[in-house]
Amino acid sequence: MVTMQQSAILKAPERFFINGEWVKPASDKRIDVISPVTEEKLISYPEATHIDIDRAVSAARMAFDEGPWPRMSARERAACLRRVATLISERLEEIAWAWTTQVGAPISLTRKLVPQNATLFSHYADLIEGYPFTDIRHRDDGGEVRVLREPVGVCAAIAPWNAPMVLLSYKIAAGLAAGCTMVAKPSPETPLEAYILAECIEAAGLPRGVFNLVPAGRDGGDYLVRHRDVEKVAFTGSTPVGKHIMRVCADRLARVSLELGGKSAAVLLPDADFAKALPSLMVYSMPITGQVCFSLTRLLVPEARKREFLDMFAPAVQALKVGNPADTATQMGPLAMARQRDRVEGYIAAGRAGGARLVCGGNRPRGLDKGYYIEPTIFSDVTPDMTIAQEEIFGPVVSVIGYSDEDDAARKANATPYGLNGAVYSADPERAFAFARRMRTGGLTVNGLIVDPKHPFGGYRQSGMGREGGREGLENYLEVKTVHMAG
Ligand code: NAD
Repeated sequence: MVTMQQSAILKAPERFFINGEWVKPASDKRIDVISPVTEEKLISYPEATHIDIDRAVSAARMAFDEGPWPRMSARERAACLRRVATLISERLEEIAWAWTTQVGAPISLTRKLVPQNATLFSHYADLIEGYPFTDIRHRDDGGEVRVLREPVGVCAAIAPWNAPMVLLSYKIAAGLAAGCTMVAKPSPETPLEAYILAECIEAAGLPRGVFNLVPAGRDGGDYLVRHRDVEKVAFTGSTPVGKHIMRVCADRLARVSLELGGKSAAVLLPDADFAKALPSLMVYSMPITGQVCFSLTRLLVPEARKREFLDMFAPAVQALKVGNPADTATQMGPLAMARQRDRVEGYIAAGRAGGARLVCGGNRPRGLDKGYYIEPTIFSDVTPDMTIAQEEIFGPVVSVIGYSDEDDAARKANATPYGLNGAVYSADPERAFAFARRMRTGGLTVNGLIVDPKHPFGGYRQSGMGREGGREGLENYLEVKTVHMAG
């Protein structure tokens, strides 16, 4: 049996982190993780059951109700978070390899991105030291009003597999900064980073029960969000599961923040310099084999310049080096799991059947017989009503959509139920900015793509509710209390 110990240097891979201790699971249930490269078992680890989850929630409850954490000063909490950031920084190489081996993301990319985890903890440490947790205002009668921001309480943090640690760090760093206590449930496909995070939090000396880790699958996640002691759920994942969680939480009005799917558009305005746009389109139209929520999967190009665009974009996509993600020269690894490849192949078939023109890709790459590889794929002549233009594929499949003028481009850019991200390219940044204001999405970049965890990130419409990162990310975990001083 391959265990987690062999994939990362973990302190207690057969246990859960609950109430400040590494405790034995209540059952012998296990979860297997399959390598996207070898298609063989990569790791096996214990699955938390309802009993373990009850223990974790009650530890978080006690730490919130009786512990010092919510009542510590912002300065004291910030010092703890900075220690966590330092400890994460010491393990970046291990975190990068965990991401690469479980998900198939190229090591050259994961190495670049993992410092964000430490950044998030130090960012929230800095932010709370200057944050107005108490705001003094005055009534019309001159009386004083103290508006307090207080932690929401016990929070569940549920993350997906594609960017496992950073999507957990957004939640844990902001929630802890606010003074909440946390129960983390990573995705069943990617437990390693959550264990590393738990070890860093333990070593940083946070009080018992403030952070708890219960690795589990869908059943455990469902039990956790239904738990009456959980006062807020922070979820990143698919839109259907996000809707389900919101319905469940509505019953007891538990707070919810949702980071969901996307179908983001890059709009190349008529005056855009395609050669200048190419580098960011190459990186962000299909990062991590297209398994990133904010990927720019719909490329809107002036109808008259479509051929010019494809003549430049298609050869660049075909030249991407697809292969083993552990190889530093690899630009695109496999899809993360067999069901992901089935899904992506289903959408490629739908694109063909729906009348889109396959420009390149669409097949499993030759010479890569093992692993969930798929060629980077471009469809052209895509119309907004087609399935591949409407639904999140979560794979390396890009749709090129022609438009006649800016009004047509704006209509087409907004013609999906999502609204997570976007990009607008123009020779004139202010023209691009003016167009950006017409796009109904939670984030945009003019002439490129930037996602910076120190600034708010999240979706309009069916891409989510609430924001992660920045001050808005902290406010997800705060309630407002108004105290009138009457005498
Ligand atoms: P998923 O919705 O299947 O699962 C996400 C998490 O929810 C996992 O931990 C899973 O175990 C858990 N879960 C599943 N069913 C649950 C239930 N009924 N109750 C509680 N928890 C449950 O998504 P996925 O396949 O892991 O991730 C891919 C999706 O995540 C894509 O749609 C992608 O766009 C989205 N995503 C969004 C963002 C963002 O910030 N907006 C970032 C990354 C990924």
